[in-house]
Amino acid sequence: MGFPETRMRRLRSTPSLRRMLAAPAVPPARLIYPVFLIDGAKRREPIASLAGQARVSIDMLEQELLPAAEAGVGGVLFFGVPEDKDPGGTGACRDDGLVQQALRVTAKAYPDLVRFTDVCLCEYTDHGHCGILKGRELDNDLSIEALGRMAVSHAGAGAHVVAPSAMMDGQVRAIRGALDAAEFKNTLILSYSTKFASALYGPFREAANSAPAFGDRRGYQAPYDDVNQALRESLLDEEEGADMLMVKPAMFYLDIIQRLRERTLLPIAAYHVSGEYAMLHAAAEKGYGDLSGLIREAAVALRRAGADFILAYWAPEWRKHLG
Ligand SMILES: [Zn+2]
Repeated sequence: MGFPETRMRRLRSTPSLRRMLAAPAVPPARLIYPVFLIDGAKRREPIASLAGQARVSIDMLEQELLPAAEAGVGGVLFFGVPEDKDPGGTGACRDDGLVQQALRVTAKAYPDLVRFTDVCLCEYTDHGHCGILKGRELDNDLSIEALGRMAVSHAGAGAHVVAPSAMMDGQVRAIRGALDAAEFKNTLILSYSTKFASALYGPFREAANSAPAFGDRRGYQAPYDDVNQALRESLLDEEEGADMLMVKPAMFYLDIIQRLRERTLLPIAAYHVSGEYAMLHAAAEKGYGDLSGLIREAAVALRRAGADFILAYWAPEWRKHLG
């Protein structure tokens, strides 16, 4: 039956009806807050391209995480950005490394936050690529061994979830093997399983100082114009033993999230990346849109597409955006 018997506007005709029929708001527990860690003391360096975000030294971390903890955010994801780098990224496994220290601080100060760590070598290598080079080529199999060692080091320092983001083949299997061999059988793996070679990572590269010294990452990150490769990447990681999958970036990839949702029973994360955050902020700043409205709409879209949880720079302010 169509118009005039059917009138869609009846369903939305009063605030009470709209409220009654609305989907529940995305709870803060579904949000993970990414945090960048730097060397030194008493340092809080604002990231110009990521409004409100900063890189912090370990002594500032407890204070930095307070708003997220008070907001009831689900967890934090740590990126170490040390000054000391070498070709093999060996600093990634130091027991007194930035991520390792941050895990201990967080476990003590905010035990309810789920502790995620980014597992990738690009912030630790002097060439800025995500693994170990042989000549000017990235050696996949050497790299995944190094990622396994890094994951074990993070687990030993108290990570609940290690999150490999290097897009090396076999990295999830190698990390699961390394964790199990070291008796970290309960440490989860959130694979950045479908991570696209995207133009939306610009502000992150400023935050993490991780632009490669030569070349780019298209040799390992997924091409955004190939749906089949994108899905295979995630499904292979599930086979390798990932506990959770991720699509990154988020807003341009709702179709990928939805298609993946139809093919897996694992939890799916969506990473609302730096360039997406910057776009919304820039629009709001220019008066082209309301920031809270933009962020709310993005969050609902990601959930609607099938994401179970969202990695987002706006996580600590979520309640404010909900209004
Ligand atoms: Zn990387």
